[in-house]
Amino acid sequence: MTNKLKYFVGNWKMYGNFSSLRIINQIHRFCSRFKKNGIKDKIILCVPSTLIYFFTTKIKSKFISIGAQNCHYQRSGAFTGSVSASMLKKSGAKYVILGHSENRSEGDTNQVIKKKIESALDQKLYVIFCIGETINEKKKGKTFSVIRKQMKDSIDKKYNLKSIIIAYEPIWSIGTGNIPKVQELKKSFRFIKNEFKKNFKTKTFPVVLYGGSVNDGNIRAFSSISEIDGFLIGGASQSSKKFIDIIKNYYK
Ligand code: PEP
Repeated sequence: MTNKLKYFVGNWKMYGNFSSLRIINQIHRFCSRFKKNGIKDKIILCVPSTLIYFFTTKIKSKFISIGAQNCHYQRSGAFTGSVSASMLKKSGAKYVILGHSENRSEGDTNQVIKKKIESALDQKLYVIFCIGETINEKKKGKTFSVIRKQMKDSIDKKYNLKSIIIAYEPIWSIGTGNIPKVQELKKSFRFIKNEFKKNFKTKTFPVVLYGGSVNDGNIRAFSSISEIDGFLIGGASQSSKKFIDIIKNYYK
């Protein structure tokens, strides 16, 4: 159930500009030193779409991949302001976050997310698919039924399931400083991995990340949970120092 390769994924949200290349270069320098210790992990930075091409042409880091944060489900058309999976791919993105609660709150339903996942997989992008319950759903004991439905409604067993990474992000934890208890997380991760394997009839467990208020101070609490394959880091990923300290402290 445990994946040896750990993922550290940054979600920059609506932050960053060309000069943020400095952040990526600092992370790259850290990785080149750090990886010499034989530590294997994947660093993915999901940046605003306007920066993908610039970053992928400027950085030649074998340690860092660039991803996007959302896409439209159509390949092209009259969708003002939208960006398609094919455009992201051509800009150099390798990953795309889909189903983030901030996009769900703006109208992305499980069905819309399903179409987005399909279009991203068509373009051979890896999908970081976010699931998670609200605080009210948690209080009513509905966490498992909500995340089961999110997975069932947006994933089809015919998909290239190896290209889907799940990010479990309890909505009440995103940007709030509140994190689930260790025992709760263990249960949720086992549930997600078992459900995925059972429903989509895979031979192996999926890669499942935790997201929600991860920082350099609380990351140690997560390292005892072997079921967690990595982290989706929002606010703290906008600073190279915080992002690097998260990785360092995870392995301390
Ligand atoms: C996120 O936006 O995916 C996220 C986890 O944010 P934060 O780390 O800021 O809670």
